Amino acid sequence: MWVRFLLGAPDKYYRAMSKIKHKFEIPEEVRNISQVLSSTKFDNYLVGGCVRDLLLSRKPKDWDITTSANPAEIEALFEKTFYENAYGTVGIVHETPTEESTRVVEVTPYRTESTYSDFRRPDEVKWAKTLEEDLKRRDFTVNALAYSISEEKLIDLFEGERDIEKRVIRTVGNPDERFSEDALRMLRALRFASELGFAIDSDTLAAVEKNKNLLVHVSKERIRDEFIKIVMSPAPSVALGLATQLGLLQFISPEFEKGIGMEQNKAHIYTVWEHLLRALDHAAKKEFPLHVRLAALFHDIAKPHTMKILNGERTFYGHDVVGARLTRNILTDLKFPREIIEKVVKLVRWHMFFSETETITLSAVRRIVRNVGPDLIWDLMNVRNADRTGMGRPKETTYRLRKYHSMIEEVMRDPVSVRQLNINGGDIMSLTETGPGPHVGYILEILLSEVLEDPKKNERKHLESRVLALMTLSPKELEKLGIEAREKNQGEDEKEIEEIKEKYKVE
Ligand code: ATP
Ligand code: MG
Repeated sequence: MWVRFLLGAPDKYYRAMSKIKHKFEIPEEVRNISQVLSSTKFDNYLVGGCVRDLLLSRKPKDWDITTSANPAEIEALFEKTFYENAYGTVGIVHETPTEESTRVVEVTPYRTESTYSDFRRPDEVKWAKTLEEDLKRRDFTVNALAYSISEEKLIDLFEGERDIEKRVIRTVGNPDERFSEDALRMLRALRFASELGFAIDSDTLAAVEKNKNLLVHVSKERIRDEFIKIVMSPAPSVALGLATQLGLLQFISPEFEKGIGMEQNKAHIYTVWEHLLRALDHAAKKEFPLHVRLAALFHDIAKPHTMKILNGERTFYGHDVVGARLTRNILTDLKFPREIIEKVVKLVRWHMFFSETETITLSAVRRIVRNVGPDLIWDLMNVRNADRTGMGRPKETTYRLRKYHSMIEEVMRDPVSVRQLNINGGDIMSLTETGPGPHVGYILEILLSEVLEDPKKNERKHLESRVLALMTLSPKELEKLGIEAREKNQGEDEKEIEEIKEKYKVE
């Protein structure tokens, strides 16, 4: 319908311009770019997320300009540019921006998209002649607004402003068609619902349900990027709750679905999946970073795999260990960066630690700091916090929190890894007049296990005399002690915790 009016009726096009004069706060760099383009007779508009955010009085994350200029013409007009991607986007760089969002401003020629033979991405990117063509290819009405800086006018061809006022996400044009062109848009709809606190229009929602299976065609990388944005939104359970209802979770990870509706035990009023969503929401509310939010969402992911009934109660022994493995698999499958995976895996692996509230000893805290590392120990406390809040437990007594904090701080000053011993491999070799060999590692582990028990033993003279004493052992004996020490350093607290769990019959 609108194609007809665009081709035929410029007066209607005029009517699509908002009657209200809009004056927005736009950074100087962005105004300058627009002015340079305008003065060279290239039409240009702010477009997409930034226009939507301006209308919502939200601070735009980035500034996108669409223009009638082609990439070479754009590049020729600005000093510091780089050609960004296959879509003809030229990044314009400001070394000393007035705000972070203008460090790179993206200027993209009008584009249109043609056929999508694989349900994923257009087969080719085509330049368009007009703004209308460019807006028409965009996903949602609220993302298809353009704003002319020079004329202070909003171009609204699809009633995006109305949808912003009504706070709804609606596709541009027929939702079935738009989702079969690019199935990722379905996840994007949920993402924007979470990010903006909008509802999804009922036809759009029905089309998501109908077309969801097309998501199998979408690359993991693109799913990952939307998933990250959902997790980083202020209330991720909005999008993930919708995904649960609509049966979309399986396309992020089938593991998520296993906890849906799964009852736990006396300690829990929520099912596994609901608990995880609540823990994630808490982490989001506290504005924790991505790896902490992911750990909050994944920490009990293995409960469905480890559930056993013991004395009539459900138990989940080992769900931390199995969960760490599952987390690694899921995040690897979604092509998360290694660095994030390692952090989340560690947090999931050790999330049970601080739940043993009454019985934590200093040496146990020392070992946990060794296991998750000093960089992650406070994040682990935050995961614990999210876990607790996600169970609907009352806020922690400040006394107990203070106790943890002081214990952590206390042990942080103690050595927790061989690197912090006041002796190193080189010292051991020269002291014992030997070369490199397994004995060096064994000695270090033995010394560390002694120091973990009693930090006062991390004293050079004492360590040297222990090295010499250990060298009098036979290689076999040394190996045996070394291996025992390593196991102890890595895992003693696990044994302690298992014993405690057994005693109290808790998970
Ligand atoms: P954010 O504030 O998160 O950056 P955004 O709306 O700018 O939100 P982007 O993913 O940066 O979202 O995309 C920029 C714009 O490009 C969107 O507003 C939309 O107009 C368009 N767009 C992006 N991805 C798609 C897609 N898969 N299909 C159609 N249009 C899209
Ligand atoms: Mg954007």
